[in-house]
Amino acid sequence: MPSPIDIASQVPLAAPATLKKLEKLGIRRRFDFILHLPLRYEDETHVYPIASAPYGKAVLVEGEVISCEVQFKPRRQLVVQIEDSSGTLILRFIHFYPSQQKALAKGKRVRALAEVRRGFYGDEMVHPKLREVAADEALADSLTPIYPTLSGLTQPVLRRMIQSELKAQSLDETLPAALLARLGLVPFADAVRLLHAPPPELSAEALSNPLLPAWQRLKFDELLAQQLSMRLAYRARRSGKAPVIVGDQSLRQQLISQLPFALTGAQQKVLTEITADLALAHPMNRLLQGDVGSGKTVVAAMAALNAIEAGFQVALMAPTEILAEQHYAKLSAWLEPLGVKVAWLSGSLRKKARGEMNALIASGAARLAVGTHALFQDEVSFEKLGLVIVDEQHRFGVGQRLALQGKGAEPHQLMMTATPIPRTLAMSFYADLDVSVIDELPPGRTPIVTKLISAARRDEVVAYVNKTCSEGQQVYWVCPLIEESETLELQTAVDTHLGLSEDLPQWQVGLVHGRMKAAEKAEAMAAFSRNETQVLVATTVIEVGVDVPNASLMVIEHAERMGLAQLHQLRGRVGRGAAKSTCVLLFESKLSDLAKARLRVIFEHTDGFEIARQDLLIRGPGEFLGARQSGLPMLRFANLEEDVALLESARELAPVLLEKSPALASAHLARWLAGREHFLKA
Ligand code: ADP
Ligand code: MG
Repeated sequence: MPSPIDIASQVPLAAPATLKKLEKLGIRRRFDFILHLPLRYEDETHVYPIASAPYGKAVLVEGEVISCEVQFKPRRQLVVQIEDSSGTLILRFIHFYPSQQKALAKGKRVRALAEVRRGFYGDEMVHPKLREVAADEALADSLTPIYPTLSGLTQPVLRRMIQSELKAQSLDETLPAALLARLGLVPFADAVRLLHAPPPELSAEALSNPLLPAWQRLKFDELLAQQLSMRLAYRARRSGKAPVIVGDQSLRQQLISQLPFALTGAQQKVLTEITADLALAHPMNRLLQGDVGSGKTVVAAMAALNAIEAGFQVALMAPTEILAEQHYAKLSAWLEPLGVKVAWLSGSLRKKARGEMNALIASGAARLAVGTHALFQDEVSFEKLGLVIVDEQHRFGVGQRLALQGKGAEPHQLMMTATPIPRTLAMSFYADLDVSVIDELPPGRTPIVTKLISAARRDEVVAYVNKTCSEGQQVYWVCPLIEESETLELQTAVDTHLGLSEDLPQWQVGLVHGRMKAAEKAEAMAAFSRNETQVLVATTVIEVGVDVPNASLMVIEHAERMGLAQLHQLRGRVGRGAAKSTCVLLFESKLSDLAKARLRVIFEHTDGFEIARQDLLIRGPGEFLGARQSGLPMLRFANLEEDVALLESARELAPVLLEKSPALASAHLARWLAGREHFLKA
């Protein structure tokens, strides 16, 4: 949580209720007023004659009230007519107070600001901003900024507070002049003054242009603050002590020689990066990104063997039992023949078995421990933990990761994810981690054909399932995600299983869902991988990690309800063997535009990075980042898609500034992040 800053002491004159509202708006310190920038601008510098007021933009007109009455047709509303020397105009208010009606008595002089549109009875304004004026009242000499605010805190009050802070504060520059010149940026004070009190010559359009130098400066400052804090977080992590791990290749060579395939160039490249990191006396914090099916497990195994060769233990943690179980099966099959004892730990183990596993881990007899979050319960202690590998890290909360970190004397950490992170996000929100990317799939994969099929044609799909099974292949059938009700989701899975079993009497249909006991799930998975069941009905529990190369058809019901990353993950469960694979996305008719856009992306693209980029465009970074970033403030001014060039400059500059002008760097950070200190610890 951000440390509360006492704004009462900083904004001495405001009433407590106002202070609360300010705080809700993110204004906790006097400086925050400066960063509370207008949403848009209104033009009250010019009065248009009613007859020649242009359409299509908000304009100010002035006139005398000639009538004001409540009408009841077509619905209750206040209708006011005003007149100037050029013509008359109708002002309509659907929502109004009796007091307003009184105030608008015949003969009053008012100014009204809104768009003029053609109404049935002539030109009109709906809900204009309205103010009574004296006959010769002066006009505003520049545009009026309109701020984000809350009801009860009016624009004029907020504006006055901001204007007085603008005058009172010194607004010191935090960037060296030479640098501003080189980057073509305007001084900070000029930028904020211009935005809060624009000069008369600037139009509302010019002021809303993100390329306006003043906005560019604010975006840059914000991105720079983010880069500085990420650098500091990175440095803090890197300054810790961790064991130097240099294996002698003895085990790794053996594994390589036993694998039925050779590592891809991309796998070798990331292994080189990991090996170099482990050999340093500082904790590795590396994110391993690789599209679904790119072969991260064998990379994890090789990294683990490196540590084990050097005499350390390794923990590998996965977010679900199914996934952990699969890892356990695969890794013990690879490692046990090399004489490496692998322990299995999950929450569903019985007490006795758990005790035995804990003993193996504590004594060091087990060199690798695979499991779920049960791995970091208090009762588990490692003899000599050197490396922690976390699969599908985006599913773990930050807290859980840290708990495990505290287990050994700062073990190295490798986090694996199949959710590709678009480059701009990697450069910003993940800048506190090192990143390795497996950017190549193992050879011999046949591309997956994606089909979008209306749920009305389900029968044809069932026939296709039958055909696929007849050809010796297997099928996943994924039931709809029902976010509102886990019970309903479960029921749907059970019903689907029943229905498909009837429709496909010649084949064995299995079922796996989230509520099954771990052992039952494992058994259902095992039966499917042994081809004892040909069709596996599943809830989205199979989303990650499952690996059955003989499965070549994936059917996903209600695909429109799923996120892009999820669909991409699910689709990646097929296309792992030699057979040509297909993914059928069943959708309900009457798709929303958003759902259509999503399905189009998944239909048109197979590259996880491109899908992630599109996903970011559709959803925005806040949602995209999800759990990892909870508590991490999103960017207010900068936009990761539009401002790539600024982001790149900020990223280049951050380490230089920290090195050469640490005082400026911390002044800059304080300005942008005070009250958001948790940002540094995320
Ligand atoms: P993911 O990155 O999605 O976790 P996996 O590690 O499960 O992918 O690997 C997917 C499949 O590819 C597995 O069957 C694995 O054995 C196989 N595989 C991994 N590396 C290679 C390679 N270099 N050549 C051929 N197949 C590979
Ligand atoms: Mg995996």
